[in-house]
Amino acid sequence: MSPKPKCRGRHIPQRTCVGCREVQGKRTLIRIVRGPEGVAIDRSGKAPGRGAYIHADQDCWAAAMKGSLEGALKVKMSEKEQKKLEQVMKNIFDEQNG
Ligand SMILES: [Zn+2]
Repeated sequence: MSPKPKCRGRHIPQRTCVGCREVQGKRTLIRIVRGPEGVAIDRSGKAPGRGAYIHADQDCWAAAMKGSLEGALKVKMSEKEQKKLEQVMKNIFDEQNG
C-alpha cells in the first residue's frame, strides 16, 4: 500500500479513497465523476459533476465496487456501467504497472 504522508507543511487538497478510506493528496488519486452522461473516470480531474476519489489499486477498486462508490456518487450504476468503468480502471492499472 502507499505510504501515508508524514507532514502537512504545504497545502495539498486531501481526498478520501472510496476503496480503503485512506486520506491522500488529490493528485495521487483517480477521480470518478458522475456527469450528465453517467459515471465516468475523470483523468483530467476537472469534469463537472459529483466526484469520488480512488487509488489506482485493484483492492481499492474491488472494495469501492461493493457499494461505497455508488454511495459517494449517490447513484445506482447498471451492470453495464460498472463493467465499462472496470475496463477503464484496468487500463489505468496496466499503465501504472508498465
Ligand atoms: Zn485506496
